[in-house]
Amino acid sequence: MSEVSVLFNGYSIIKDENEMIANCTCTLIKAESLNIIIDTMTPWDSDKIVNALMAHQLTAKDINYVISTHGHSDHTGNNNLFLEAKHLVGFSLSYKDTYFMHPFDKGEELKLNENIRIIPTPGHTLSDVTVIVTTGDGTYAITGDLFEKYEDIDDPTIWVDAGSEDQLKQAKNRSMIADLADWIVPGHGPMFKVTQEIREALKKQVVDFGLIL
Ligand SMILES: [Zn+2]
Repeated sequence: MSEVSVLFNGYSIIKDENEMIANCTCTLIKAESLNIIIDTMTPWDSDKIVNALMAHQLTAKDINYVISTHGHSDHTGNNNLFLEAKHLVGFSLSYKDTYFMHPFDKGEELKLNENIRIIPTPGHTLSDVTVIVTTGDGTYAITGDLFEKYEDIDDPTIWVDAGSEDQLKQAKNRSMIADLADWIVPGHGPMFKVTQEIREALKKQVVDFGLIL
């Protein structure tokens, strides 16, 4: 069975027009003979990550996959701690100098095992991915910045202002993910439970964004 642990809750605070304070949510998935770390924060967080893994009886060498949900600097900062792992950054999957082609750009998911799959969810960038994990207590979606934080459901300007390369795609993918997940781990905030009310709100926003854009 897979186990999802949020190692660090992300945050983002806009100070003024020129400055924002932010770091990403960093998540660990432990499954049978498969350990995955998702979004590795900034290069200044390496000690924190190593210590957090130690608390799970793991070292960097035990990680089989590093996934950066997209290529922004706060989501990739410690990928080089994990030299035994395959690295997925957005749509790009590699190990050393070998690149493994996968048609994420055609909408195709990548299955890592029976319970873990990676699906393309463009919007925030055009090559964002979301990791879907089925566990004994429901389906988790680790979404990166597809969802900035819980508050961006009531106030979509939060995810739009955080940067969206395709707002309509992002609105559609937010709704699609909410429909299949029980829990969402957003890119810059604590995990939250998906309710029917949230699903309805996100469906409505797809229509709204379709009208605006
Ligand atoms: Zn981010």
